[in-house]
Amino acid sequence: MAVNVPAFEENSVTTSATSANPVDVLIVGGGIGGLSAAFALAREGLRVRVLEQAPEFGEVGAGLQIAPNCTRILHDYGLLEEAKSLGVLPKSMVMRDAVDGSELTRLDLVDLERAYGFPYMVIHRSDLHHIFLHACRRVGVDLVTDARVSGYENTASGARVLLADGRADEAGIVIAADGLHSVARRLLVEDEPVNSSYVAYRAAVPIEQVGRDVDLSEVSVHVGPRCHFVHYGLRGGEMLNQVAVFESPKALAGEEDWGTPDELDVAFAATCPEVRAGIPLMWRDRWWRMFDRAPIMTWVEGNIALLGDAAHPPLQYMAQGAIMAIEDGWVLAKHVAARRAEDGAIDWQGALAAYEAVRPEHCRRVLTTARAWGELWHLDGVARLQRNTLLRARDTYDYSFTEWIYGPTALTPEEEPPMFSPIPLDSVDVSDLIGRAEVSH
Ligand SMILES: Cc1cc2nc3c(=O)[nH]c(=O)nc-3n(C[C@H](O)[C@H](O)[C@H](O)COP(=O)(O)OP(=O)(O)OC[C@H]3O[C@@H](n4cnc5c(N)ncnc54)[C@H](O)[C@@H]3O)c2cc1C
Repeated sequence: MAVNVPAFEENSVTTSATSANPVDVLIVGGGIGGLSAAFALAREGLRVRVLEQAPEFGEVGAGLQIAPNCTRILHDYGLLEEAKSLGVLPKSMVMRDAVDGSELTRLDLVDLERAYGFPYMVIHRSDLHHIFLHACRRVGVDLVTDARVSGYENTASGARVLLADGRADEAGIVIAADGLHSVARRLLVEDEPVNSSYVAYRAAVPIEQVGRDVDLSEVSVHVGPRCHFVHYGLRGGEMLNQVAVFESPKALAGEEDWGTPDELDVAFAATCPEVRAGIPLMWRDRWWRMFDRAPIMTWVEGNIALLGDAAHPPLQYMAQGAIMAIEDGWVLAKHVAARRAEDGAIDWQGALAAYEAVRPEHCRRVLTTARAWGELWHLDGVARLQRNTLLRARDTYDYSFTEWIYGPTALTPEEEPPMFSPIPLDSVDVSDLIGRAEVSH
């Protein structure tokens, strides 16, 4: 299927390719997904070029949580020690109620590392991006900026991309890691980003500017009615990362100009003092409206494949978006390596089929769980009490809800662990709590 992707017209490409050097793989998009996939394929000996639309490679934003299913891959890449030296290994993740500040549940991240063999790390996203950028340079990836891809087509021997400035480039395989607004995705499906009406404010500030006591050994998550607030340390504790997320009344009313700072202040006005103390630190000159897309199970069209947010942009509540992107490249490279003949020829169709057999289902699970997890975080009234009761009953060392995600990344559908069984909220009896001050509505 080809939907709305500018096609090549006969003789329409008037200028030369982006580079004279032929490559095996072209990767469109130099975010964490594109660069990590480029590194994974180049370390298997492939010639790889990354085409990035921006004038330079970089990441905007603040912190990233990197769970054991990804630190395991960073270890395999020989990049974990460098990442650890730039990040923080918190000792616990604590979820609290954003209204009364009480603890709901916690993960002991020291024990989690023992259970899964690899740590839970938090790191500035520009640091992780730099790690992959430098790793790509070391293995000889051709890194091209100012290259916005506007069209794709399969050819007899591979695939070709058309750039917005009229240039073109081609290779045996094209991997589209072009993010939420992916052009390549239109080859496979006619869909649009889904607006959640939630918006994220971020801040990464030097610790001496924080002005309050913060326990940097924790990843702290406060969940509240239509809002939540996350904070953790970055760069060995030199910085504090904060994320404040809320549902925008203006978005719900259909207004264009939504998620503005006045809405931020109102959204957190009724939260506990610890959360309110963090709000004045948020960056107020930019905010991130939260979109995802419905899962799709087909990611490959001929010699063109999707990867990262282009294939599976999530709501961020599972903190697995960048991780899924990194896993995609790792899985693809493993299948490429397994299908390489002695003469160096690669059974690309076999490798892409193996990639597509395992990754879409895993990512579908993360995307749908992220939506459900976000709904659970943002409950109000009786449902909030039921959620709180349920979370308080969880044993700190019960990993039955994390097994499906923090274990080794599956290479085949058979290796994909079973999902956890959700506990229905209405199975929780809170009749003795109703009427007490804890119910806000
Ligand atoms: C508030 C928030 C918190 C998050 N927290 C976490 C977390 O804790 N852990 C986690 O794992 N994930 C987290 N995520 C998700 C994560 O940031 C993304 O899933 C991840 O960055 C996606 O990487 P990507 O490379 O696939 O896409 P992107 O980062 O969007 O990169 C796409 C790249 O392609 C380029 N590009 C786009 N179009 C073209 C084109 N036509 N031609 C050439 N280049 C193009 C772009 O310039 C960009 O460089 C969070 C997201 C948000 C919003």
